[in-house]
Amino acid sequence: MTDPRRAVPRTDRVLADPRLQAAAEVLGRSLVKDVVAAVQARVRRGELPPEQVADAAVAHLPATAASLRPVVNATGVVLHTNLGRAPLSAAAVDAIVAASGCTDVELDLTTGRRARRGRTAMAALAEACPDAEDVHVVNNGAAALVLAATALAAGREIVVSRGELVEIGDGFRLPELLASTGVELREVGATNRTTLDDYAAAIGPRTGFVLKVHPSNFVMRGFTSAVDVAALAGLGVPVVVDIGSGLLARDPLLPDEPDAAATLRAGAALVTASGDKLLGGPQAGLLLGRADVVQRLRRHPLARALRVDKLTLAALEATLRGPRNPTWHALHADPDSLRQRVEALRKAAGTGDVVETQAVVGGGGAPEVALPSWALALPQRYAQRLRLGDPPIVGRVERGRLLLDLRCVPPESDELVAAAIGRAGAARRV
Ligand SMILES: *Cc1c(COP(=O)(O)O)cnc(C)c1O
Repeated sequence: MTDPRRAVPRTDRVLADPRLQAAAEVLGRSLVKDVVAAVQARVRRGELPPEQVADAAVAHLPATAASLRPVVNATGVVLHTNLGRAPLSAAAVDAIVAASGCTDVELDLTTGRRARRGRTAMAALAEACPDAEDVHVVNNGAAALVLAATALAAGREIVVSRGELVEIGDGFRLPELLASTGVELREVGATNRTTLDDYAAAIGPRTGFVLKVHPSNFVMRGFTSAVDVAALAGLGVPVVVDIGSGLLARDPLLPDEPDAAATLRAGAALVTASGDKLLGGPQAGLLLGRADVVQRLRRHPLARALRVDKLTLAALEATLRGPRNPTWHALHADPDSLRQRVEALRKAAGTGDVVETQAVVGGGGAPEVALPSWALALPQRYAQRLRLGDPPIVGRVERGRLLLDLRCVPPESDELVAAAIGRAGAARRV
């Protein structure tokens, strides 16, 4: 063969292919050009015959102009931080699409006048938690804490137990987050034990509020004691409680997870939480509490910097008003039907072992809860092949085997998982 470089078709000739022209309309010309360039490079390396450039480019076009891809979560971790925590419900996705263009987020269509931003999402949140007199939403749980600290305790102190100065993940620690607002932390008690007297002794004219943080990613056992919200509420200063998970009402499946309703009834002035953990909604920071307190947060200049966008408002409202979401279904899936699905998966894929597993809630909370589950066990070498497939399937590797746990996989994806296993097995034999 002669020099393959001379045989590489010119870019403009390739781009004239009607399929690539159509793709350029949807994805943008520069993105399609990049794909063509990558295919041309393969021809130059002698990996691909020149006449296949257009076909190969079409085959390698991304589905969207962004590179984030939908992934099947077969890890058995319901809220997987690396997979974006809570997957949205179809209702929330539809709401996002509807709100993505020009939308009446700040306009009353009846009067034609300006209206309160996100009023319908706020109303949905307030209705979902009637114990809250008022509610507000910011970008995430950390932002909710920053806003509370800044608006309620600037230049003053936050009294907090040493047992609750937690790291929330990726090296971010709540005490450092709070200190970054300029507020002073008044630490009380010991790592394992804090009493009501410890709090009482620390409270004074400089106290902005007492903060209680739910240990959402660890448990303390043994010689421990903590003070509950009801007792703290009797101290005469506002109590702010970071419940973490975003559970609005009690869930019997998660008996140790605090919920916003019970926390407010116990006397908390304000509850902060994430929207994309157990609530199963978009990334957001929920603030629920006394009307005067929430009003101060909403009016603080920092609130503007932490404001959520219209897509978040749309997804949050649909999560609250719509049908049960994927997080709820994953948490409440019946183990027997999971076993049946794994058996059907083994039959369809023609390989693997049906094994009993334990799934977990994950980054969102309930560190002690084990959710009985079932998985298809495959040789570990399948792990990378399935991750690199389309769509990528992410399982977990345990004791040298790949486990595909179906608890967090929507049943309608089972067929697709079976087909991917088949392809991964066939590719291996080549
Ligand atoms: C998750 C969590 C946070 C942080 O919330 P983000 O939404 O991730 O910013 C803060 N506090 C607790 C107790 C948490 O569990």
